[in-house]
Amino acid sequence: MKELVERIQKDGRILGEGVLKVDSFVTHQVDPVLMEQMGQRFAEVFKEQGITKVVTIEASGIAPALFAAKELGVPMIFARKAKSLTMDEELLTASVYSFTKQVTSTISISRKFLSSEDKVLIIDDFLANGQAAKGLIELCQQAGAQVEGIGIVIEKSFQDGRQLLEEMGLRVVSLARIASLTNGQVEFLEEDA
Ligand code: 5GP
Repeated sequence: MKELVERIQKDGRILGEGVLKVDSFVTHQVDPVLMEQMGQRFAEVFKEQGITKVVTIEASGIAPALFAAKELGVPMIFARKAKSLTMDEELLTASVYSFTKQVTSTISISRKFLSSEDKVLIIDDFLANGQAAKGLIELCQQAGAQVEGIGIVIEKSFQDGRQLLEEMGLRVVSLARIASLTNGQVEFLEEDA
C-alpha cells in the first residue's frame, strides 16, 4: 500500500537487531486516517471470504483490526496478553514468544466469542517470525473456527513468519513488505495490497 510505504520511509526508524520503530503512527501514537485506509484495504481483499470475526492481539493490532472489522461489518476480538480479573469464563489460551520483548506470554480469548461457525480474519501490526499469528491461529483452532486469512500491516520478509503461515496453507496479505533493514536503509519488496 503506497501510503504506508511512503509513511515508513518518512517516519520509520531502524533499531538494531532488525527492528523497525513506527511508534509515531502505528505502535504508540496512531494515525487514524492511515489506519482507516489500511482497514479498508484488508476488508476489500478479504470481502469474498464470508468473514464473521476479525481477531488480533493487544495492543498494536487493535487499531487496524478495528477498522477492518467495521468495514466488514463484523465484531473485532483482541486476544489479551494478561489475564484480567473480569475474565471469569472459560478461556482459549496459547503460548506466544514475543519477538520484541523476548518473553513467552499466555494469550487468551473468552471461548464464548469464537465458535465453529466462525470464519476468522487475523490481523496484526507486524509479521516477524510468525509466533503471534501462530498463537492466534491456535486459539481459533481450539474453538473450531476457520482461519480464512491473515492481514499484516508490516511484514519483515527477511524473517520466517510468512513461510511458516503459508506452510500451514494460509493466505497472507501484507500492506508493506520489508526486504531488509541493513545499513540504515529500509528496502521494500512489492506489497500484496
Ligand atoms: P512475530 O510473532 O511474528 O515474531 O512478531 C510479531 C509481533 O512482534 C508483533 O505483534 C509486533 O508486536 C512485534 N514485532 C515484531 N517485529 C517488530 C518490529 O520490527 N517492530 C515493532 N514495533 N514490533 C515488532
